[in-house]
This record gives sequence, C-alpha cells and structure tokens, in this order.
Amino acid sequence: MKKKGNSTSTQASLLALERFKDKDLIEKELARRLIPLKFPYKLEEIFLEYHFRNTLGLIKFSLAVGLLLYSSFGILDYILYPEVINRLWLLRFGVGCPVILIALVSFFLAKNDRQVQTAYSVAIFIVGLTIVGMLIVTSYDVTQKYYAGVMLVMFYGYVASGMRFMYATFSGWGITIGYLVVVLFFLESNPTFLISNTFFLVSSNLVGMLGSFLFEESKRRDFLLSALVIMERKEVEAANRALEKLSNTDPLTGIANRRYFEDFLEREWKHAMRYEYPISLLMIDIDYFKRYNDHLGHQAGDRCLVQLASVLKEFEGRPGDLVARYGGEEFVVILSGTDLDDAVRIAVEIRRRVMALKILHPASDVSDVVTVSIGVSSLIPKPGYSKEELIKTADLAMYRAKAMGRNCVNAFKT
Ligand code: GH3
Ligand code: MG
Ligand code: MG
Repeated sequence: MKKKGNSTSTQASLLALERFKDKDLIEKELARRLIPLKFPYKLEEIFLEYHFRNTLGLIKFSLAVGLLLYSSFGILDYILYPEVINRLWLLRFGVGCPVILIALVSFFLAKNDRQVQTAYSVAIFIVGLTIVGMLIVTSYDVTQKYYAGVMLVMFYGYVASGMRFMYATFSGWGITIGYLVVVLFFLESNPTFLISNTFFLVSSNLVGMLGSFLFEESKRRDFLLSALVIMERKEVEAANRALEKLSNTDPLTGIANRRYFEDFLEREWKHAMRYEYPISLLMIDIDYFKRYNDHLGHQAGDRCLVQLASVLKEFEGRPGDLVARYGGEEFVVILSGTDLDDAVRIAVEIRRRVMALKILHPASDVSDVVTVSIGVSSLIPKPGYSKEELIKTADLAMYRAKAMGRNCVNAFKT
C-alpha cells in the first residue's frame, strides 16, 4: 500500500533516529537547562535530517504565504505612491517576487536542511532589501512609510518562516544593516528619527533572536525526547525478544525446549489438518544413558547431549521441521509433510550419524559407543485425532525399539 508523503517522511526521519545508538549522549544533552543549538557532530547531522524532513512542508507553505502577502502590498504601493509606481513595482514584482519564487523552487530541489535554510534566509534578506530600495525610491516622503515594511519582513523571518536561529538572525541583521546604510548615506533623516528607528530595529532583532532561539531550543529538545523514546522502545523490544528466545530454548543444548515443541506442534498440526499433509514425529532416546553418567560423570553426559543435539539440528531441513529436547536424554524431531516411510529413512540416518560420532560408552550393552533408539510415528491430522496421539504412538514405538534390543528404529504402524 502506498503511504501518504507526509507519513513516509516522518517515518524516514524516525529511521534517521534509529541509526543513532549513543543513548548516553542524548541523555547528557537533555540534562542541560538549555539545549545548545549545535549538537556533537553525528547527532547534529541526524537532527538536521530530522528537521529537514519534518519541516520542509511547513516551510514551503510559509514562504508561499509570504509571497502572497508580499504581492498584495503592491496594492498599497499604488495607493500611497502612484507617481513612482513603476519603480516600486519593478522592485516588488521584478526583484522580490522572482527571488521568493526561486527560493520556493529550490525547496523542491533541496537535499538537506542547510540548503533550505540558506535559500530561505537569502530570500528574506533580498526581499527586505527591496523594501529598503522602496524607501530610497520614496525618499521624498519624510515619513518613511516603508520603515514598517522593513520591520514586518524582518519579523516574518524570525517568527513565521520556520528558519532556524542562525539563519533568521542572518537575514534579520542583514536587513537592519542594509536599512541603516541606506538611511545614513542615501536619505536625509533628522537625527531623532534615525536614533528612534535604530532603537526599534535593534531591539526588534533582539526580541526576534530570543524568540527564534527559544523555538529552536524546544525543537531540539523534542528531537532528543523522540530519540530517547525510540531508543528505549528498541531496548524493550530487544529484551522481549531475548526473553522469548530464552523461554523457548533449552539452556544446555541451545535447541528448542519442550515448551516450544508443544507450541510448534500445535501450529503445525492445525496447518497440516487444513492442507491434509502428514506430520511425522521421531522420539529419540539415548541407550543406557544412566550408566554413561554413572561411569563417566554427569558433565561428560552433558557434553554428550550437546553433541547429539548438534547432529540432530542438521535434520531440521524445512520450515515445518523442528528438533527439540523433550526432556532428560530424550529428543524429538517434527517432520512436516513427511510420510512414515521417509521419516523412517531419516530416523535410520540419525541412528547412523549418532554412532558415527563415536562417543565412547564403556558401559553400554549394545555397542562400545553412544547409541540411540528411535520411535517413529506419522499421521495426517484429521478431526478426531489429536497431537497427543502422535506423541504417544512415537513414544510407544521408541519403547518397542528398546525392547527389540536398542540401537534401532521402530515405526508405529496403524
Ligand atoms: P535406556 O537405554 O532404557 O533408555 O536406559 P537409560 O539409562 O538411558 O534410561 P533412564 O531413563 O533410566 O535414564 C536416563 C538418564 O539420563 C538418567 C539421567 O542420569 C540422565 N539424564 C537426564 N537428563 C540429563 C542431563 O541433563 N544431563 C545428564 N548428564 N544426564 C541426564
Ligand atoms: Mg529416557
Ligand atoms: Mg535412555
């Protein structure tokens, strides 16, 4: 299913977070009273990717709104100064609007946060300068009406653009300096007017910087918190998986335990019933294993079990197959989609492979090495049959194999 652009980009930014492994660093950064506006290198890169993906849509929207507002002021130009409208509109529609449009297009091509922010900042700076240019064009009017426009653009950069602190500060001060240069060298303003305007501009910049700083600080805090949540969720998932694996495996041999065997057989049983294929079960028991322990010690017995398990594991060929430790020195093998004849062939092969291990067993009556007796049973599950039946009959066959002298295979036939 195709996802909406927005949700994919959010997911992608979360993916960027998932690559980050250093939880200590994130906790350290979060513990600060004020989050710094620059993280250590790798974290900063991930933050920028996250910021890029999370804000691009809003940033495009914000600049489009800006373009609309800026264009609509063309009406005011006409109402205030119809006599110089050509030059005003040249600045507005010949310079300002194209610059905004270029920035908008560049947002669609941008590959990272720095490119977007730079384009936005430069665009706001140039748009601010177009208004300063309008001040020059209308310099014959001592009331300097476009002064308010300079303030408006500057403020737009700080609070409505989605620009980060550094970039908003660049355009804000850039416009301020541009304005002061023009006022000092091109306009004849009286000193009180100049001083008061400078006061307002400088303090507006400071207020804008504060707002933009706090905004970016909280965005970074959000980022760190999301990162922490994602990491902790991953930790919990990993712990759960480990726990699940632990509860399903036999600690000595590392193969499935009886609990997992029961679950697995239950699932396979239902599946086989639906698709009407046979399930075969091998019940494998080591011959004279008590004597083996008595003679060579329990630890040697353990090692023998481990070796046997690893041989059995090789017979777990298909997804529906399972080798498990049933208990003590008994193992089971589930073979799905295998009929009795094939299961017997596999059992014979297992018996041969166990002997080929040549684990010396000085106390055995049947051989000088460790041997196994195997009972085989097979069923096509049908309503009315139960999986316990399969286990019981395999067990019965195994006891028959013992009775027949051990180190052999017996198949249960109905
Ligand atoms: P049979 O040929 O009839 O199967 O004789 P057996 O001695 O193998 O059978 P029995 O059931 O009398 O003894 C099983 C022995 O398996 C008892 C115990 O010493 C040993 N055993 C069971 N679990 C473990 C284990 O985890 N480690 C070790 N080392 N031995 C085990
Ligand atoms: Mg036994
Ligand atoms: Mg035994």
